[in-house]
Amino acid sequence: MLPHPERFQIDFPILSRVTNSGAALAFLDNAASTQRPDAVLQAMDRCYREYYANVHRGIHTLSEASTEAYEQAREETRRFLNARSRCEIVFTAGATAAINAVARCWGDQNIGPDDVILLTIAEHHANIVPWHQLASRVGCRIEFVPLEDDFTIDTQRVSQMLAELRPKLFAFTATSNVLGTDFPVQQWGELARAVGAVTLVDAAQAVPHRKIDVQQWNSDFVVFSGHKVCGPTGIGVLYGKETLLDEMPPFLGGGAMIDTVTTSGFTTASLPDKFEAGTPPIVEAIGLAEAIRYVSAIGMDNIHEHERQLTVQADEGLRAIDGVSIVGPRPDQKSGIVSFTVEGVHAHDVAQWLDTRGIAVRAGHHCTMPLHASLGISATARASFYFYNRADEVDRLIAAVHEVREKFASRGRRRRKPASPL
Ligand code: PMP
Repeated sequence: MLPHPERFQIDFPILSRVTNSGAALAFLDNAASTQRPDAVLQAMDRCYREYYANVHRGIHTLSEASTEAYEQAREETRRFLNARSRCEIVFTAGATAAINAVARCWGDQNIGPDDVILLTIAEHHANIVPWHQLASRVGCRIEFVPLEDDFTIDTQRVSQMLAELRPKLFAFTATSNVLGTDFPVQQWGELARAVGAVTLVDAAQAVPHRKIDVQQWNSDFVVFSGHKVCGPTGIGVLYGKETLLDEMPPFLGGGAMIDTVTTSGFTTASLPDKFEAGTPPIVEAIGLAEAIRYVSAIGMDNIHEHERQLTVQADEGLRAIDGVSIVGPRPDQKSGIVSFTVEGVHAHDVAQWLDTRGIAVRAGHHCTMPLHASLGISATARASFYFYNRADEVDRLIAAVHEVREKFASRGRRRRKPASPL
């Protein structure tokens, strides 16, 4: 475990606030969005106060400084992912925007009515709906790799489905935002390549929590969002292999993505500008780069190990409560997330009770309706951790879920009483 996770309290002003209930905040909703350290807030503030101007277009001092910081942010991101070239890093509005861009720019060119797209049932809606939309444009078929009884996805089954279906694209999440399962990205990528499929890896829940090397993964496309890695909202990254990005037409047209424009047409700029039409998220990119520096200084392996220990603690503590079911695999097969149900209590009621104890968790389908449907449940409560979370916060979570059991189970008993004479 990180030696002094409480020291992050100082770096993250928001973590020391109290909630509406008057209890100290235990922020366990990091799979929805993380918080930002002072360093990120200050880097963005400094840009706006000291050197902000639009990028790429001016020759004046401020524009040069902003352009340099923006392109430096791209370089920082390239290094973080170990991409081969800065041309392969496209800034988008987020993971969702990045997947949509691939569906439009690559999908429309390469997927036809006889083609299959393979997904897993554990995908976030961001990695399902753009493919449904593509299917309604071009008429392709979408298939899903199912979940096994132990909440894992069997690589043998992935291999079989790839061999039988011969999909043009295999798009899958690196880490499930509900189950917490880390999937074997490199292995699945090799299996996909063996049948000629292009791979898209949704790394929104992986990039913030473990070391990623896109060259080692050898994936064709990888996407993530800045706000889940202590960066700002409104920025994400589309990594794509240069050869693929080169062949793809741009999705959005406008300023900055062109080389020339005439009254009869236009030619596109080179990579990565071709995919960054209009004024880009300049200050957000600068904030993201600072966030990357911040988490890199802690060490992605340290972050992963710290979260693993919190996950084990939460998983074991919650599993031991009568009536609580963990929706996810064994703790050694997942990281950073523990989703659960409490018998007879709706997940929203669980989250509401935890809020009265200052504990922030999310409840619902977490943008994974097909996954929840396949499990036969409509909602789960989800505790999700980051490096700034502490063991005593997990203790508070477990104690509060005990209270939920006691409080709601006894309410249920009281409610049932008047009904018994009938
Ligand atoms: N994929 C996964 C696995 C996610 O967890 C999320 C965010 N919850 C997304 C995609 C979408 O990210 P965003 O909303 O930032 O575009």
